Amino acid sequence: MIFLDAAATTPVRREVLDAMWPYLTGSFGNPSSHHTLGEAAAAALAQARAAVAGVLGCRQGEVVFTAGGTEADNLAVKGIALARQAADPRLDRVVISAVEHPAVEESARYLERFHGFTVDVVPVDGTGRVTPAALAGMLRPETALVSIMYANNEVGTVQPIAALAELAHAHGIPFHTDAVQAAGWLPLDTRELGVDAMSISGHKLGAPKGCGLLFVRSRTRLEPVIHGGGQERGRRSGTENVAGAVGLATALGLARNHQEVQRERVAALRDRFIHDVLAGVPDAVLTGHPSERLPSVASFCFPGTSGESVLLELERRGVVCSSGSACAAGSDAPSTVLTALGVSAEVAQTAVRFSFDSSVSQADLDHAAAAVRAAVAGVKNLGAGHSR
Ligand code: PLP
Repeated sequence: MIFLDAAATTPVRREVLDAMWPYLTGSFGNPSSHHTLGEAAAAALAQARAAVAGVLGCRQGEVVFTAGGTEADNLAVKGIALARQAADPRLDRVVISAVEHPAVEESARYLERFHGFTVDVVPVDGTGRVTPAALAGMLRPETALVSIMYANNEVGTVQPIAALAELAHAHGIPFHTDAVQAAGWLPLDTRELGVDAMSISGHKLGAPKGCGLLFVRSRTRLEPVIHGGGQERGRRSGTENVAGAVGLATALGLARNHQEVQRERVAALRDRFIHDVLAGVPDAVLTGHPSERLPSVASFCFPGTSGESVLLELERRGVVCSSGSACAAGSDAPSTVLTALGVSAEVAQTAVRFSFDSSVSQADLDHAAAAVRAAVAGVKNLGAGHSR
């Protein structure tokens, strides 16, 4: 089987598992306990936090460990908007982009439903990019927060985060980015990006599911969304997932050490794959930005097919991928991301996303490109047969 669905999740890396193992077994203590086992766990957590801070170019106290990307997004969007509104009740708007993950979009809608906020949605262009001009048109004196993702999970388009954050700051508005898909591939230095908050999830880069983090710049007010024993400096209660934090720190460190080499290697493989798919299926359409895209994502529409049928045909040929975002699993509605890019609902349901981790090889993608040609032809023949 060739697994080309790494944007959905990745297997845990051996080095990550090895680093986590002691904290799942012998050193299993609760970091809040005042005995040697607890102290060992607290020390491991502190070390993981320091390692993460090194990768993000931030202070250790600016790292809040969470149970994944969804929680980090919830904490950022709700936590920053509500804290700012508590300080100044006139702040009752949030700005998000039209292509956000549901973790951000639904957090903003929650603010709208229960806290009287208005959600302003910045449109994207046909490649999925938010332009600074489009964002500028949305910023108001009442805007409490701007949240725009670093890289999109369905089409891989990368946003000009530093420019967008600078624009928000020029209006005195904090800026959050969902970097769940970017982590492992793109630079994560929070000083260079100029962001006030940034979400990361472990399972997209070789750490387990259910561990993540939110970077929050120290001067940024944050209302917790999970209340309890006051862990993570009161910003996220709950006994810390020590092994998860160690795993996430290890995965981020590994990704940073190999990032530049892998980025170039995988981007070259992606470009060749895109070329081969477009050559093999002449009416296929690449979705997202032609160059400002994740090295790891190639996404297409195959007009005249259904994405789900192409997936089945591909799996029969040993290639596993996705018809879009795994996060909206079970939903038949056309992708809101693709419709925001101007793709018709009819064509949007023919979408297929191929996403790679750093172990991908030329041989895998040669096989996959041939499988795509055969799968699409198979689905079209079947369709023609039905309509006769
Ligand atoms: N944000 C983006 C862009 C994602 O792609 C995902 C997961 O697919 C998430 C957030 C949610 O992360 P998690 O699965 O860790 O909750």
